[in-house]
Amino acid sequence: MKKTLTIIIFLIFQQLPNAAEVNVYSARKETLIKPLLDQFTRDTGIEANLVTGKADTFIKRLEIEGKNTPADILLTVDAARLVRAKEKGLFQEVISDALNKVIPNYFRDIDNHWFGLSLRSRVIVFAPDRVNKGELIDYLDLANSKWKGRICVRSSSNIYNQSLVASMIAHHGINKIEIWASRLVENFARPSKGGDRDQIKAVAIGVCDIALVNNYYLAGMLESSQEYETYAAKKVKLFWPDQNGHGAHVNISGAGVTKYAKNKEEAIQLLEYLVTDKAQQWYSDINYEYAVNPEIKNTAILGKWGVFKYDDLNLSLLGRYNRDAVLLMDRVGWK
Ligand code: FE
Repeated sequence: MKKTLTIIIFLIFQQLPNAAEVNVYSARKETLIKPLLDQFTRDTGIEANLVTGKADTFIKRLEIEGKNTPADILLTVDAARLVRAKEKGLFQEVISDALNKVIPNYFRDIDNHWFGLSLRSRVIVFAPDRVNKGELIDYLDLANSKWKGRICVRSSSNIYNQSLVASMIAHHGINKIEIWASRLVENFARPSKGGDRDQIKAVAIGVCDIALVNNYYLAGMLESSQEYETYAAKKVKLFWPDQNGHGAHVNISGAGVTKYAKNKEEAIQLLEYLVTDKAQQWYSDINYEYAVNPEIKNTAILGKWGVFKYDDLNLSLLGRYNRDAVLLMDRVGWK
């Protein structure tokens, strides 16, 4: 009897049409994307399944899984990883007026393989009691000997630094940036360690006077429920680098549809959902990132920081120069 019942249930399941779904490999922390996916499910009825992990692991996994991959979308927090995935043939072209209309062309792939969804800027934070704002200029100036022993920045293994250096290679050439990087390392207050939040804390307690960090870490600390984080964040100020030149370096969180996506339609629907006004506003309000849609109004802290000039370098170049950047940082002893 029990066996018959099992067979009947099995047959019923066989008959049911598959519920619409989309499967996402995400290098974003779950808390920074899951609420949006849940909202997408509520609004569209499409189930969005999330697997969270490291971008490089997912890239390897997609290569190994090939046609059998369950993933429809790969989502990362850096353009260089998206470029790498494209070069390995892991994405497919997506034709979407909605995406092309909202996302400026320098924040998406020329062949429509990946799309920027939110922006983050790599900014300078400084201790206002030890640094006169007028002394700060741009990234190149961080090599000036006036900053000797005063700069904190995390390790060169971090993709945010790799992409910043890649953007500088794209603008100034490898020779100039190698000299710049070697002088920058001489200006470090300590060997690189910790994440961006740790650099902010180090400035706050006087280990260094300036640091390079992504803007949303400072915003997150200012809004933190941990008193020691808000205390540290309030001790530093934000400076937008290079406002009279290329503009502050920006990177994206972004995504592409995998080459062997089994739910391609749903995957495109999800990407389009992530650039709707509602989702773009969420990136700004909750993650303290900037919308890729320039029409979106920034609230609270981002609003207070005002409008800044950002570098509109085509982000594909962050991928193209990633290897050069990594090797260069290694040569100059940026640990
Ligand atoms: Fe981050």
